[in-house]
Amino acid sequence: MVTGVPFHGQIHVGDIFEQREFLSAPVEDLTGDRTRPNLKIQDGCNNRCAFCIIPFVRGRSRCAEADQVVVQVRRLSAHHREVVLSGINLGRWGREPGSRMRLADLVRRLLNETPIERLRLSSVEPMDFSDDLLRLIADSPRMARHVHAPLQSGSDTVLRRMHRKYGPRHYADRILKARQWIPDAAIGADVMAGFPGETDEEFEESRRFIERMPFTYLHVFTYSVRPGTPAAGLPGQVAMPVRRERNRILRELAAAKNLDFRQSMLGRTLSAVTLERGSNALTCNFLNVELARPRPASSLGDVEIGAVTASGLREAAPALFRVLA
Ligand code: SF4
Repeated sequence: MVTGVPFHGQIHVGDIFEQREFLSAPVEDLTGDRTRPNLKIQDGCNNRCAFCIIPFVRGRSRCAEADQVVVQVRRLSAHHREVVLSGINLGRWGREPGSRMRLADLVRRLLNETPIERLRLSSVEPMDFSDDLLRLIADSPRMARHVHAPLQSGSDTVLRRMHRKYGPRHYADRILKARQWIPDAAIGADVMAGFPGETDEEFEESRRFIERMPFTYLHVFTYSVRPGTPAAGLPGQVAMPVRRERNRILRELAAAKNLDFRQSMLGRTLSAVTLERGSNALTCNFLNVELARPRPASSLGDVEIGAVTASGLREAAPALFRVLA
């Protein structure tokens, strides 16, 4: 892929697939909250999912040096309780030619060599959730109890047409193990409704699979054509009203699963980091809690869950503690 980047009035033309340099700076999270900086440690992707334009825009996978990540996390931990490690295909961290390091090795180094109190992984492709990585998340109290593994579809045939690198059986193996080893973990996925050629039967197969999985939240996307991707030229583009209806069905399923999960947290005490305004906190298992009284932003503490709200949780009121005492 050839790109042109305006620079000092000239156009420099290069091949994005030749890009080997890794440039990274911590950024605030996607909601604009600055209490949990996002540290990008990997860029680009060597996969070719049929619907995705990213490899053509970001080039091949490349990673930040382990030493550089250790230094950055050490620096961030001077002002932040939680750091989120992110990447376009984060699970590919370390998989450069000649490297034997894996993401789990880097995480272990960060836990051993930095004082960071909470480390969260953003999205990791399902097959990159090795037993080693899941064990680290399960066993370290400093790891956020959070597993986000993009699924896209629970139908084997749709996954093949998407050129995803796993079937539902492989995906279930990783996710069920995550639930078994980390019973209170947030488990999330990206899913897509209306990929070209998705029949009613395939959608139903996917819906049933999603229903069986122990998800606590889903990001549901409606397939939309990205010019230049293989999927754009596939026959059987699904009518937009059908895509939207499938999206609605999956969102309803996600809402029900999320409510079940939140209700299961009632009466539990969860570790949480207060967000920027100090009136809310994010638990280690990715739930937003309205605090009974504001606390300083970016503080880490235990929160007892007293109620379920429309979209999150509420901390048990301190008055209630006194009555019970
Ligand atoms: S969907 Fe993810 S894994 Fe697939 S090509 Fe795009 S960035 Fe890579």
